[in-house]
Formats: sequence, C-alpha cells, structure tokens
Amino acid sequence: MDCIFCKIRDRVIAKDFTYEDEDVMVFPDIHPFKPTHLLVVPKAHVEDFLEFNDQNLIVKVKDVIDKMIEEQKLNGRGYRVSVNGGGAQVVRHVHFHVMGPIAKDE
Ligand code: AMP
Ligand code: ZN
Repeated sequence: MDCIFCKIRDRVIAKDFTYEDEDVMVFPDIHPFKPTHLLVVPKAHVEDFLEFNDQNLIVKVKDVIDKMIEEQKLNGRGYRVSVNGGGAQVVRHVHFHVMGPIAKDE
C-alpha cells in the first residue's frame, strides 16, 4: 500500500512529531494554512472518516486534538478542526486538521 501517512508512521519518511503515542501521531502540515496547522492522525490505516468508527480511538483522537489546542494556546484565539472525506481528501488515511489562530469571519 502506498500511503504517505503510513510511511511517516513507519519512519520510512522522516518526520518530527509534535506528539506521538501508541495510537495517534501529530505533525505539522507541510503547506500550513495558518501559523498553527497540525495534522492529527490515527496510526491505524483507515481510508475515510466514515470508516473511522473505533469508539476508543475516536475518544483518544479527541483528547489529542484538545491537547494540541491547549498547547498551541488557540483557545480564545480561534481554531478550526476539519476533515476532508468522501473523495475531497488528498491523502487517503484519515486525519484531522487543527488550524489557528483563526477569526470568526475567515
Ligand atoms: P487532505 O487529504 O486534503 O485533508 O490534506 C492532506 C494534507 O496533508 C495537505 O494539507 C498536505 O499539505 C498535507 N501533507 C501531505 N504530505 C505531507 C507530508 N509529507 N508531511 C506533512 N503534511 C503533508
Ligand atoms: Zn495509511
């Protein structure tokens, strides 16, 4: 399988992780849309958000997203968490964009 995020997970492609545990990895997006633009990625290869149904993993990912928002001091400065899916994603390994600071009207 030719998946860039699996290669990052397996250290085939070198990457500095912002956060890592046994189930989740976080690294900066190479084309940042905002000063903070992190990708929160479950390590297990799941292609689409609709197939991302492991409840324990969903909670773990939510905890890591919360942690990144706190660490990046985005609470109060505005943040956006987004997922592309259903063919809108470029990388077919589910991931959550965490971006900020961001204003209401952006
Ligand atoms: P999408 O699949 O459309 O949600 O977006 C995939 C995101 O992954 C894009 O914002 C890319 O800039 C980012 N990306 C692709 N390859 C890498 C990489 N090797 N390291 C970090 N970010 C990447
Ligand atoms: Zn993958």
